Amino acid sequence: ELYGAGRRNATGWDLTDPLELAALDAARAPFRDHQWSAGPMIAGAVTGVEERAVFNPADQSDKVGRVRDATAEDVETALNAAPQGFAEWSARDAASRADTLRRAADLYEQHAADFFALAAREAGKTLADCVAELREAVDFLRYYASEAERLEASDLEARGVFACISPWNFPLAIFTGQIAAALAAGNAVIAKPAEQTPLIAARAVALLHEAGVPLTALQLLPGDGPTVGGRLSADPRIAGVCFTGSTETAKRIDRAMAEHLAPDAVLIAETGGLNAMIVDSTALPEQAVRDIIASSFQSAGQRCSALRCLYLQEDVSTRVLEMLTGAMDELILGDPWSLSTDVGPVIDAEAQAGIDAHVAAARAEGHVLKALDVPRDGTFVAPTIIRVGGIADLEREIFGPVLHVATFRADEIDRVIDDINATGYGLTFGLHTRIDDRVQHVIDRIRAGNMYVNRNQIGAIVGSQPFGGEGLSGTGPKAGGPHYVSRFMRPKVSAEEA
Ligand code: NAP
Repeated sequence: ELYGAGRRNATGWDLTDPLELAALDAARAPFRDHQWSAGPMIAGAVTGVEERAVFNPADQSDKVGRVRDATAEDVETALNAAPQGFAEWSARDAASRADTLRRAADLYEQHAADFFALAAREAGKTLADCVAELREAVDFLRYYASEAERLEASDLEARGVFACISPWNFPLAIFTGQIAAALAAGNAVIAKPAEQTPLIAARAVALLHEAGVPLTALQLLPGDGPTVGGRLSADPRIAGVCFTGSTETAKRIDRAMAEHLAPDAVLIAETGGLNAMIVDSTALPEQAVRDIIASSFQSAGQRCSALRCLYLQEDVSTRVLEMLTGAMDELILGDPWSLSTDVGPVIDAEAQAGIDAHVAAARAEGHVLKALDVPRDGTFVAPTIIRVGGIADLEREIFGPVLHVATFRADEIDRVIDDINATGYGLTFGLHTRIDDRVQHVIDRIRAGNMYVNRNQIGAIVGSQPFGGEGLSGTGPKAGGPHYVSRFMRPKVSAEEA
């Protein structure tokens, strides 16, 4: 434990224990056909009446629930109510805010089974991913609670009303982390979940309210990006935006804020990446292959940290590629509810079409080295390997289970590092080598927020591996680290004479 004295990370569940696994599976069973509903949770009347259905990405006939999206009027209602929430919430001392967040963490754990069912059916997550997601959400709540107490003695105060805008790929963990940090600092929050995952967001907000966060201090506005996120980012009543999502959307929000918001309004943005891994000829091939598979294909490659471009040293590339394609053949694609599934669907048909088009273009050029078969129904994308000359051939982040592979000669490692840095992104980076000097040499030169040596490059741990990128990958500070909550605050100095 590095940060947050006395705090422990959630223990989670041991999925390698057959008894524990069976118990978990049984606990979530009642939610297999359950339907949830969501809508704006605001301190005032809701005007939106139109509902849309939310379907399981693995099975379009599985209706997960219904959502009523927020209208422009609902956004206005939330913005009008939020100052009252800010006054009430910021008047509480840090210990009281922290207790409330810890209560919410306990409630999350008590409702693990319905969260697991929601993450599987609304976001297409395997059980292992669902467990990791809940653990991270709970860790964020407890860690930021302890940060609120630590920062109580500092010369910092809450900023005001925060807009928290989150993506669908961690619909519980990132959604909760943003809110927990803003609330820990004493701000009021208006949260906008991704359009694809409003149901799990509504469940989370209901538990935060049950834990004691007033409705005015935490309002939820499900809805589309421009109507809700765009309006919030451009409204002068917003003191800050906490955003996680694509670099493109972050730039849009930045522009909207620059035009309309007070100069001291803050943007905390965690964005995309073009993440690379270098495997040299001294690496242990079995270990490298295991870590490449996890980094590229776990969560169907829908992690901001996922490996996009692998650099293999020429001398070992044939052997490693052979082992890699062999290991890919062992991956089981299918319904994420099934305990044997390794790779679930991508989030929706639009994402699927975009990734498929990228693979089709590579196939037309003869660059596809390996692609698995995919289930016919559902929005599945085949785990695929594409040969490239280098990372510069990737024009954009392909947010799915597609790995690009390039080779390099022993004397080219510095050129490879320069190419990786030249993308302008800087989120995660992986290195497999047994040469100690090389570890330091590469780490000193690569510009990336999180580096991983001789392991996979996904899955940060709150409190001990703060996560976040640089350059086009984000503004910092790192989530789950000791500099994060203070970014949601501003300095205040007073001097008094007798
Ligand atoms: P996205 O399209 O940028 O959407 C993120 C959020 O922004 C959604 O809630 C979206 O709403 C909203 N939004 C869209 N347009 C907006 C606008 N004009 N103003 C304000 N908000 C707007 O990203 P995504 O596809 O959900 O997520 C995948 C991306 O997130 C990838 O690039 C991934 O690398 C990145 N990511 C980064 C991290 C990190 O920690 N660095 C973590 C996870 C994901 P709608 O849903 O309605 O479009």
